[in-house]
Formats: sequence, structure tokens, C-alpha cells
Amino acid sequence: MPVYEYQAKAPEHTCEHCAGPFEFRHGMHDPPLSACPACGVPVVRVVSTCRVDTRPGTKNQLGDKNLKRLGFSKLVNEGDGKFRKTV
Ligand SMILES: [Zn+2]
Repeated sequence: MPVYEYQAKAPEHTCEHCAGPFEFRHGMHDPPLSACPACGVPVVRVVSTCRVDTRPGTKNQLGDKNLKRLGFSKLVNEGDGKFRKTV
């Protein structure tokens, strides 16, 4: 199950658990967490950044060939809400 990051909607009403961003594990199709599991204050899911490795030798991780090998699809925005699948 993926790990999602949440934070309290009102940072002035938090407990020790939700005083800063915290992680919570649930299924992709489960509804998002709406309240802190420790104190019950409303929380919102935070969009986390993904890590892209930019070390030498890893330059082509997001290349078409590697994406196809790993089973990913790549869509290119052609404008007007249209996307073209390139991989
Ligand atoms: Zn809390």
C-alpha cells in the first residue's frame, strides 16, 4: 500500500502526531484520511514531490526506452486537452 502525506488544516489546533506533515499508509482506492488518527482534527493530503535521480549515469531513467522497459506510458500534451501516447 502506498504511503500518503497529510497535514492538519489548522496548524494551531494540532497534537504531537499532526503538528507537522505526517505519513499514513492506505490503499490507492481507499478514501483519503479526513482527520488525524490521534486527535481527530481535520487533515488534508499533501502532494509530495517525487525523487528524480540526477546522478551521472542515471540521465536516461525518464527516457522513452527505459519507461517502456518498466511498463510505463508517456503522454505528450498536444494542447486543447489532447494528449498523444508516445510510449
Ligand atoms: Zn493530531
